[in-house]
Amino acid sequence: MVDIILKLKEKQLLGRSGSMFPVGEKWEVVRSIPSEKKYVVCNASEGEIDTFKDYYLLKNYPEVVIDGILIAMDTLGAQKGYIYLNKDYYQEFFPALKSVAGERIEIVEKKGGYIGGEETAVIEAIEGNPPEPRIKPPFPSEKGLWGCSTLVNNVETFYFVSKIKKDDYRESRFYSIGGDAPNRGVFEFPESITIKDLLEKTDNSPSFDYFLQVGGGACGEVMLENEINRKIDGLGSVIIYDREKTDINLLMKKWVDFLLVGNCDKCTPCREGLYRIMEMIEKGNYDEIEDMFYVMEETSLCPLGKVAVTPFKTLLKKIWK
Ligand code: SF4
Repeated sequence: MVDIILKLKEKQLLGRSGSMFPVGEKWEVVRSIPSEKKYVVCNASEGEIDTFKDYYLLKNYPEVVIDGILIAMDTLGAQKGYIYLNKDYYQEFFPALKSVAGERIEIVEKKGGYIGGEETAVIEAIEGNPPEPRIKPPFPSEKGLWGCSTLVNNVETFYFVSKIKKDDYRESRFYSIGGDAPNRGVFEFPESITIKDLLEKTDNSPSFDYFLQVGGGACGEVMLENEINRKIDGLGSVIIYDREKTDINLLMKKWVDFLLVGNCDKCTPCREGLYRIMEMIEKGNYDEIEDMFYVMEETSLCPLGKVAVTPFKTLLKKIWK
């Protein structure tokens, strides 16, 4: 029987949480580390604005996702698995998941806001602590739940693990297309598809003047029509904005409100930086915003503080001018 880790490497499967980290390499680290116990965590905390591909998979293919988790547990020698669900998904999917999860997998409801979905915050929450990110390294694969080697992958990643095990993987991924999209939904297409082709093939090419936010929900990059001849890196999410209908100030306010509620306030650059950005938006004065971006990108403790600047930075550069 072919080793699944070899297959994951052969297929070059990348993590679908937006990190794009090679899955086979991550599994190999967990398998190789001597650890008294090992754990597998399925991160189903999807909470980015207008991003809903994991929702689609949990609703339509819960048994495939769970099969992927069980494959990981058996391959890595993990005693226990967890599915970490955001509050709404927990309400909706607990019964269906419970009926296929079996005794080895526990289903846990997410704590905290958006940042509660960061992988080390997930680990803290499952341990019963406040859901705040840990400093990395060590990474969860080395030292995760209760100090033991732990694999954390997201819903879509486990879905494709199951597909790869069954030789049913076509180098595709899932894309959620939302916002002012004419045909909102979740669509499966090749990883290599360009944004332009994705919009065309899903009947989502806008007939109005538009801009996009790509690759990360509220933290995604703002892109203009002349930039869409490239594939999507990061999260499989595209949000379409009708330029005429979109109030840029209100949009930035919506992002900053979301991030202020969703961060954990643990570190100063992100906590204070987001407040300063909010003040600048309210005053409409962006003279010092580049300095704030720099500080947040360089000194925030976890990835959220670093990527939180992306939408503001790209929107101000490409649209506000
Ligand atoms: S960057 Fe800092 S405040 Fe922001 S979510 Fe991460 S740890 Fe919390």
